[in-house]
Amino acid sequence: MEQTEREIIQQQLDELHQVIGRPGGIPDNRVVAYYPPAMAERAHLFGLAATDIEGTQWQVGDAEERFPLHSISKVFTYGLALEDNGREEVLLRVGVEPSGDPFNSISFDEVNHRPFNPMINAGALVAANLVHGSSKEEKVERLLTRLRIYSGNPDLAVDEDVLAEQLVSNDRNVSLSYLMRSLGMLHGNIEDNLYVYLAACSVTVTALELSTMAATLARGGANPFTGVPALPRTYTRDVLSVMIMCGMYDAAGQWAYDVGIPAKSSVSGAILAPIPDAIGVGVYSPGLDRHGNSGRGVAVCRALSDRFGLHVFADP
Ligand code: GLN
Repeated sequence: MEQTEREIIQQQLDELHQVIGRPGGIPDNRVVAYYPPAMAERAHLFGLAATDIEGTQWQVGDAEERFPLHSISKVFTYGLALEDNGREEVLLRVGVEPSGDPFNSISFDEVNHRPFNPMINAGALVAANLVHGSSKEEKVERLLTRLRIYSGNPDLAVDEDVLAEQLVSNDRNVSLSYLMRSLGMLHGNIEDNLYVYLAACSVTVTALELSTMAATLARGGANPFTGVPALPRTYTRDVLSVMIMCGMYDAAGQWAYDVGIPAKSSVSGAILAPIPDAIGVGVYSPGLDRHGNSGRGVAVCRALSDRFGLHVFADP
């Protein structure tokens, strides 16, 4: 009997998951241990999911395991900052230049007097600063409302344990914030702003939900199941542009060269990868490479890009 396209894709994903996840394959021993539950016990997890812009889904492995968004939240915070303030206003406060530096680096675009881009902590802290709301709680609620539309899960929430853990192991973000305020790059109450940024980092999702969030971005900002817009199309373009240049920490250039799709990674070992007008991919595997990107996540995205010709400049 002839296989449907859906079955062919499922078979490919199963095979990639098996090859890349095999014991002794990609090292999975480098996990970041500063938030519960103990990450070392989660090192073996490997979930892969995809959602296309019509709402067809595929999943393999631990695709329904929850983990904190961490740096992936920067994508959505930046989107809301754009929606609240407009492109010009946001550009004055945070640039769109790849920094080539690690996510927590203390470096700025001295010429334009702003963080290099919104995908590193300095820029994400400014993006959180730009989100409208009369209190930190209101800002977080507005972010959560958007995240629920992206994912289609009305129950998405901040994991309070993860947030508490981050709030007490946060010296670098605290110093970065005070430094930026002294330079006039950040305004208002520092603690409140850190709370907003870290609450967004502490929202938990599954790889399956992450793939729906990616599919929403791939569909120009509208959720593929509900059609509800999470972000206007014009700002979706901006967010995707920044992701392709700056989404993979200091390996962003190599990623654009090898894989050629917009993506954002996080220290929790997740990767969000929207392929415009086609499909959204979500991967979760906590073992990180030396850049802080998920080892298996990078490998599986690279293989998917090769197999399905997803690189933006792939041969037609
Ligand atoms: N919450 C983390 C931090 O700000 C996010 C880091 C990350 O995923 N790279 O340190």
